[in-house]
Amino acid sequence: MGETRDNDTYEEELLDYEEEDEKAPDSVGAKVNGEAVKKGYVGIHSSGFRDFLLKPELLRSIVDSGFEHPSEVQHECIPQAILGMDVICQAKSGMGKTAVFVLSTLQQIEPTSGQVIALVLCHTRELAYQICHEFERFSTYLPDTKVAVFYGGVNIKTHKDLLKNECPHIVVGTPGRILALARDKDLSLKNVRHFILDECDKMLESLDMRRDVQEIFKMTPHDKQVMMFSATLSKEIRPVCKKFMQDPMEIYVDDEAKLTLHGLVQHYIKLTELEKNRKLNDLLGALDFNQVVIFVKSVSRAAELNKLLVECNFPSICIHSGMSQEERLMRYKGFKEGHKRILVATDLVGRGIDIERVDIVINYDMPDSADTYLHRVGRAGRFGTKGLAITFVSSASDSDVLNQVQERFEVDIKELPEQIDTSTYMPS
Ligand code: ADP
Repeated sequence: MGETRDNDTYEEELLDYEEEDEKAPDSVGAKVNGEAVKKGYVGIHSSGFRDFLLKPELLRSIVDSGFEHPSEVQHECIPQAILGMDVICQAKSGMGKTAVFVLSTLQQIEPTSGQVIALVLCHTRELAYQICHEFERFSTYLPDTKVAVFYGGVNIKTHKDLLKNECPHIVVGTPGRILALARDKDLSLKNVRHFILDECDKMLESLDMRRDVQEIFKMTPHDKQVMMFSATLSKEIRPVCKKFMQDPMEIYVDDEAKLTLHGLVQHYIKLTELEKNRKLNDLLGALDFNQVVIFVKSVSRAAELNKLLVECNFPSICIHSGMSQEERLMRYKGFKEGHKRILVATDLVGRGIDIERVDIVINYDMPDSADTYLHRVGRAGRFGTKGLAITFVSSASDSDVLNQVQERFEVDIKELPEQIDTSTYMPS
């Protein structure tokens, strides 16, 4: 907010969505370059880690780690996971899945001397090492909680000694070594209350590894929490995973639609073409918002509608492809920085840009497809924050598109009620 940014940055954003017009927007802004990845963690949710009511020792290490906001997966999973629910979660790598099980395990366990309470299995030694490191990092202020990592290639005697002399509460490891230690009775699994598989598909797809995992699983008590995570979870492997769980909470975060529509309040209004301006005027006067984007179907309609709004003293600007690139940039920048509160646009602005303060999207003209609808309304309620989308329906073909949207994204869009509670679409 109020930040000064050079034109290049804006240009990049604008060019991005235009050139890649046919591509779906990245579901969480987690692009490969570092800055975009970071973006996935910033300003995603109005609520922070504090709202999860974690132990103060954990919050402290979260602060030390520089985590400011929970990522989408963390926001979706942690509240349930800390209640002991079974969780199956798919989210692209880099979205912070590790912290979900690390934090929720540390939150729940009360270390008892000599007992392994949590077991984390993964398919490679490097990953095991990395997970153990995350446990260590987040348990900095929980000095009684001990973690150890066990994988092949290390002298098994060392592991056996460690288990005997300094039994950890949390064990991270690869299935082969863990099974060997458990079979030899050096590792007792009878107190395990949390059973976690990271990259679960990799472990369950390989039949050898699946057998090991199953055998280990059987040595743990029946009553426990099971959590599974992966970047990819095919339809075939999901039922295999679920066999280990009881009524798990299923989170598939790179389901683009779910992500975009999460937290978004959606309504339609049936009216005739002639009633649109009047209705828009009423809405803009009645609704609370920081910024609103109004989508129309053509360049000429964008220009006309904007002119009308300006004549009615609304702080409006428009952007469309009939303008020079320079002009568009300038206007985009002005809107993004909050100089104007209303933007009238064609689908040119329908994707890719991220304007934090937009809380309402109005489809003055119905988008041509369910996809376009998703891209447009993604401006409000971005990354699962709140937002309101209102769509004008004025013809049979408009109704068809609305029905497609409802079917495709499994949402029930109702007529706009007389009164709408601001707190349902704006951050409190
Ligand atoms: P995944 O398990 O989904 O592949 P990781 O848990 O490895 O993702 O997280 C990727 C990186 O992002 C790690 O360096 C991690 O420390 C960091 N990270 C995770 N959650 C957050 C957060 N809420 N804020 C900032 N950084 C985070």
